[in-house]
Formats: sequence, structure tokens, C-alpha cells
Amino acid sequence: MKMAEWKCQDCGKVFKTEQDLLSHELEHVPRYECAVCGEEFKTKEEAYLHEVGKHGRPPATDPVPVKRPA
Ligand SMILES: [Zn+2]
Ligand SMILES: [Zn+2]
Repeated sequence: MKMAEWKCQDCGKVFKTEQDLLSHELEHVPRYECAVCGEEFKTKEEAYLHEVGKHGRPPATDPVPVKRPA
């Protein structure tokens, strides 16, 4: 009997468990990081609102997507 394979639709990498695949897929999601505290957000807007709301200032630079090594 063949083991079930969990394959990443983005890069084709194969994992033994669904859990491994799910944690891997997070690496493909672009994130925006707060320059002050490093908190991560899904959108640039969220990151901006966080910096203004929490740190009381607009970010000095645009939040950039954080690309994690696969
Ligand atoms: Zn992948
Ligand atoms: Zn922050």
C-alpha cells in the first residue's frame, strides 16, 4: 500500500504528513513585518495601521514582504 503524499501546490515539495505540508505552506505566504517590533502582518495596510496605532508613528519605510527560505 502506497503512503499518502502531501504535496505543496506551489513548489511541488512532498511531505510525509499533513502537518509538515501546512507549516511549509506558510513559507509561501508573503508577510509584512513591523520595523519597530517585528510583528508580522498579512497586508501592507495592516502593518501600517499597526505602526501608527501601536507605536504612534507612521513607518519610516514601507513594510517589505518577508521572504522565508523554503
Ligand atoms: Zn512549497
Ligand atoms: Zn510593531
